[in-house]
Amino acid sequence: MASPTVSFEHSYAHELPGLYTPWQGQQWPKPQLVLLNERLAQALGLDPAALTSVEGVAMLSGHAMPDTARPLAMAYAGHQFGGFSAQLGDGRAILVGEVIDPQGKRWDLHLKGSGQTPFARGGDGRAVLGPVLREYMISEAMAALGVPTTRALAACTTGERILRQRGLEPGAVLARVAASHLRVGTFQFLAARGDNQLLQRLADYAISRHDPDLTEAPHRYLKLLARVSARQAQTVAHWMGIGFVHGVMNTDNTTISGETIDYGPCAFMERYDPQTCFSSIDHQGRYAYGNQPAIIFWNLARLAETLLPLINTDEDRAIEGALQVIKEAQTFYRAAWLQVFTRKLGLNRPDAALIEEMHQLWQGQGVDFTSFFRALPAALGGDEAPLRALFDDDAAVGDWLAGYRALASNATPELVARNNPVYIPRNQLVEEALQAASFQDDMEPFRRLLALVQAPFTHVDSAEAYARPAPHDAPQIVTYCGT
Ligand code: AMP
Ligand code: MG
Repeated sequence: MASPTVSFEHSYAHELPGLYTPWQGQQWPKPQLVLLNERLAQALGLDPAALTSVEGVAMLSGHAMPDTARPLAMAYAGHQFGGFSAQLGDGRAILVGEVIDPQGKRWDLHLKGSGQTPFARGGDGRAVLGPVLREYMISEAMAALGVPTTRALAACTTGERILRQRGLEPGAVLARVAASHLRVGTFQFLAARGDNQLLQRLADYAISRHDPDLTEAPHRYLKLLARVSARQAQTVAHWMGIGFVHGVMNTDNTTISGETIDYGPCAFMERYDPQTCFSSIDHQGRYAYGNQPAIIFWNLARLAETLLPLINTDEDRAIEGALQVIKEAQTFYRAAWLQVFTRKLGLNRPDAALIEEMHQLWQGQGVDFTSFFRALPAALGGDEAPLRALFDDDAAVGDWLAGYRALASNATPELVARNNPVYIPRNQLVEEALQAASFQDDMEPFRRLLALVQAPFTHVDSAEAYARPAPHDAPQIVTYCGT
């Protein structure tokens, strides 16, 4: 391609040979831009006009790369639903290169749905528009809600039509940006092969990218484990505070950066129920809302195992150190979780009893999680009716509210309103938006919902329907994986 639209760096390619295969994206019948995240492009120092040019769209869809790109498919392993696969890798994705933003921060530009790679394991290498738009929508909502996450830069269609569960769908590619694509599974890939030398390079690379202050630190690999654990604990605490259910918390979908990644069958819990699970393939509810904290520590333990040979040549001492780090991260998680709800309630300091009683209060009551917090300001001001109306049986609400008021003496209704979203990507609305985009060529419902969830704390008068809980008899949404 003639004019490069973006200049890239390639630290991953330079520093970690053995962890990727150089690979080009597929050429498509008709690559077309569907959405460009202009605000994100600008924050990255990229010129939106260059990205919407023919060359820009070719790059964002994987159709043709500028000379500055050095695309590759990353290798990784991972535990999927508890079972280990020594070789997963980017089966339908490529890393284009790294962008340095105006602040000097490094970001991966990664394409998902860019065609089969040597890691495709029989998969078709494709993505279709519905799931690409789901990732776009949910990751934008997460970013706006303050949750560490990969970001959607663009969505393109390819001109192909691909057969999936719901019929023929437009082929699509998501261009996404991440602080890195290092996963727990990346470490597992090398540990499974016993390649301790490359494993150490990977750990040093992770440190240079995410924890450069540890570069010269004593016990740096143990400290890396502590940092990753703290970031992941914080991220999952955020999830719990907004009702997010990731759906596929496999170790290959758990990042070193702490960013939420690989939005597949993810969705937001509406009626509170810790068993909430949307994924069509998660029959045991392994990745249900209430299991997410336990699972993240299971995944971090898998990371710890890979790091043992770097932590200490004496395995017993390495294990002892790693166990201590994980234990501390669990304590940190508990504090982070309490802090998330402390903030939502507008309290000055955490009150574990009040927060736990609130969760008990919701149990079996069909309470819309997001609406509960939106009804709190009125309740604080004396109007309890909207809050009580959310419960099947509101008998216990009064006692809890009395306790809350006593502790929240300096919480104003405005403060509580500010700390709780009006708009989340509600399941029925997301479904309708994706249906319209995929099967009626109509992006309007998607754009409307996207605009709301990108400013989730801002009430919009004309958007009342978007804040409303699903009707009580609404069927549970089922979401699909890797489609
Ligand atoms: P995911 O569940 O999307 O995180 O994907 C798990 C693994 O399956 C990763 O290695 C993906 O690259 C791979 N994968 C998922 N869907 C496809 C597909 N359609 N073609 C090739 N590989 C895929
Ligand atoms: Mg994945």
